[in-house]
Amino acid sequence: MRIKKLPEDVINKIAAGEVVERPASVLKELIENSIDADADRIEIRIERGGKRLIEVKDNGRGIHPDDILEAVRRFSTSKIYTIDDLFSVSSYGFRGEALSSISSVSRFYLISRHKDFTLGKELLIEGGEFRHFSDVGAHQGTTVRVRDLFFNLPVRERFLKTEKTELKHTTDVFIRYALYHTDISFRFSADGKVQYVLSPEETESRIKRLFPAVKELIYFESEDKVGRCYGYISPDYATGRGYIYVNGRPVKNKSLMRVIRSKVGNNFFTLFLELPPYFVDHNIHPAKIEVKFRKERSVYQLVKKSLENLQKPTIVSHLSQKNR
Ligand code: ADP
Ligand code: MG
Repeated sequence: MRIKKLPEDVINKIAAGEVVERPASVLKELIENSIDADADRIEIRIERGGKRLIEVKDNGRGIHPDDILEAVRRFSTSKIYTIDDLFSVSSYGFRGEALSSISSVSRFYLISRHKDFTLGKELLIEGGEFRHFSDVGAHQGTTVRVRDLFFNLPVRERFLKTEKTELKHTTDVFIRYALYHTDISFRFSADGKVQYVLSPEETESRIKRLFPAVKELIYFESEDKVGRCYGYISPDYATGRGYIYVNGRPVKNKSLMRVIRSKVGNNFFTLFLELPPYFVDHNIHPAKIEVKFRKERSVYQLVKKSLENLQKPTIVSHLSQKNR
């Protein structure tokens, strides 16, 4: 047996397994790219729970026409250049893996017009195979259409759940980002039916729009040398739903969740943590959903203190606070 380097398309398909688990993971990557491109309007279309189609259209800065083919190559990114950048990166993306992975396991169509150009480019890749690339008239921004996810990987396709379950996961991904990015207009439709239309608004009203069952919100906040923690609890909506953000990134962390639940019970909450970047490691897994903390105990202490510092319902937006 001799040793050979794997061909790029095989590498991409293997890597795709880490980044792309289901339609919801595709949606996550595409929404993040749109936000990283400074879009203030994002439109999402889902068909059959995302198994047939996941489309994300944005009005962001677009991709330079000479960079489009580079964008779908593995480890190609415009977001970091050196290893030091990794510690100060503020964009969602930086690994340059999403588009290459997604396009190797779907019928992938991308159209983009960069803000400094009058013409756009369109690109079609099917299961990692290049099909079409040409000039095209287009609005500024980027649209990505991902059809027939895993059509060339039947084993993975069989792991997908029902359309209803997959739609639940994609909707949840949408909610995670829409909840935080209250200055962005969103539109989300599934199987031709519009589910959410959102205009820029305060955090409180965005929460109530996404969760009509939430009638009242209580604000909490605390700050110490570790960082700042704030958010909202709904006293009248106890569903076990709760959303955690660390430096603007929606995250999951079981022990942190336990700390929060011990204070808020089953009630709905959103919790925003602002910590120095070196306290947080998002880069445990390619999907960057799990998060690890340095000085875990001090972080939990901050969270607990903030949850003991409940304030009357007020109109406070984390965005207006951030901009202060
Ligand atoms: P990453 O986000 O980690 O850089 P991706 O594979 O998601 O990797 O995207 C590769 C590159 O393509 C990005 O760095 C960015 O330059 C460009 N890109 C992708 N999506 C968009 C978008 N919606 N608008 C503008 N540029 C984009
Ligand atoms: Mg990305």
